Amino acid sequence: MSDFKLLIIGGGLSAINAYQLSLRYNIRPLIIDDNVISASHVAAGMLNPLTGRNLSKTWLCDNVFPFAHSYYKSCENFYGNKFLYSLPIYHLFRDEAEENDIYAKSADPNYRHLISTDSELRNSLPAYLKENSKGAFFRQGGFIDINNLLNQAKQHAKNNCNYLNESFNWNDLKLLNGKVEYKGKDYNAILDCTGIKVSDNPYFSKLPVMSNKGEILGLKGKLSGHSDYLYHKKIFIFKHPDGLLRVGSTYSNTDKSTQNTQAAVDFLIEKANAIMPDNYIISKHWNGFRPTTPDRRPIVGQHPKHKNLFILNGMGSKGATLSPFFAFQLIRDMLYKSPVNELVKPNRFF
Ligand SMILES: Cc1cc2nc3c(=O)[nH]c(=O)nc-3n(C[C@H](O)[C@H](O)[C@H](O)COP(=O)(O)OP(=O)(O)OC[C@H]3O[C@@H](n4cnc5c(N)ncnc54)[C@H](O)[C@@H]3O)c2cc1C
Repeated sequence: MSDFKLLIIGGGLSAINAYQLSLRYNIRPLIIDDNVISASHVAAGMLNPLTGRNLSKTWLCDNVFPFAHSYYKSCENFYGNKFLYSLPIYHLFRDEAEENDIYAKSADPNYRHLISTDSELRNSLPAYLKENSKGAFFRQGGFIDINNLLNQAKQHAKNNCNYLNESFNWNDLKLLNGKVEYKGKDYNAILDCTGIKVSDNPYFSKLPVMSNKGEILGLKGKLSGHSDYLYHKKIFIFKHPDGLLRVGSTYSNTDKSTQNTQAAVDFLIEKANAIMPDNYIISKHWNGFRPTTPDRRPIVGQHPKHKNLFILNGMGSKGATLSPFFAFQLIRDMLYKSPVNELVKPNRFF
């Protein structure tokens, strides 16, 4: 086992991916997690390579998607459990212009590995969609059963006496020459994965991590055909292993309340019916706050002044794909000074 001592603060996807990737380097980090429901606990966990109004490739798509798929498979092997559901995304065209654009992209060498207009895939769509919709299939899509992964990894840390269910108190942290001390114990590095709570961290409080509220529903409805695809048109619908359809999500930079809203229900049900009408019954309704940044890039790396302090944050709406890739870069930066991508370093905000 490595003698590198790492303390990870947080219990969301960033913290758990950093924990999991540390194990590859024989590091046994201590996780301090206040166990409060956060973005990761309510997220749909979707992996979608083409996003935004123009359905462009997501940033670093050709690197982060293959990495995410192989990383989650390695977690499955490690825990003997299923986390990754690789499924084609059936994207329903918004209008004729979008249809033309997607057809053009499906012939573009930059995009064609991600888009299929395959008639075989179309044949296995539910009858309603076969008859009433036009669309294309996006490859490398799917979703992660995030809560299952978080629970397994936390249990692993607990079994190894490396998990504390408490709130990290920044007043108890002492920065010493070449190391850090927390509650009487020395560490080589402290990693902040606290999402929107980074504002409580006095060393990184300058960072402009802003909260974006998202709401998502768990519905009972017709399940036939839902296990084979994720459906997407402004929102997504897919069948989660817990048996409920996930329908999401909303986005709000202004709503800071932790209440579920009727406006979100109305919006999501209307959009779900536009994909596939049904007598949906709302079984669950969740909300959470995405940690977002002004330049839409995550914040990853070493504090510019305090060399034992690190951060993995600002995953926005793409934590499921971005956080494994950047957790890996970060661990290698800590251990081997292998630099993280310049565009994500915290320095840009200091
Ligand atoms: C409705 C919704 C749907 C989403 N859907 C998707 C999706 O389909 N695909 C996708 O990729 N992303 C999605 N996201 C975004 C995704 O949830 C985030 O990108 C990701 O979960 C962020 O993970 P994180 O670990 O960085 O932060 P968080 O999940 O916010 O975790 C931070 C953790 O730190 C803990 N913490 C904070 N302060 C302390 C402290 N002092 N001591 C101890 N612990 C502390 C918190 O309790 C929390 O567990 C969605 C988000 C929402 C809200």
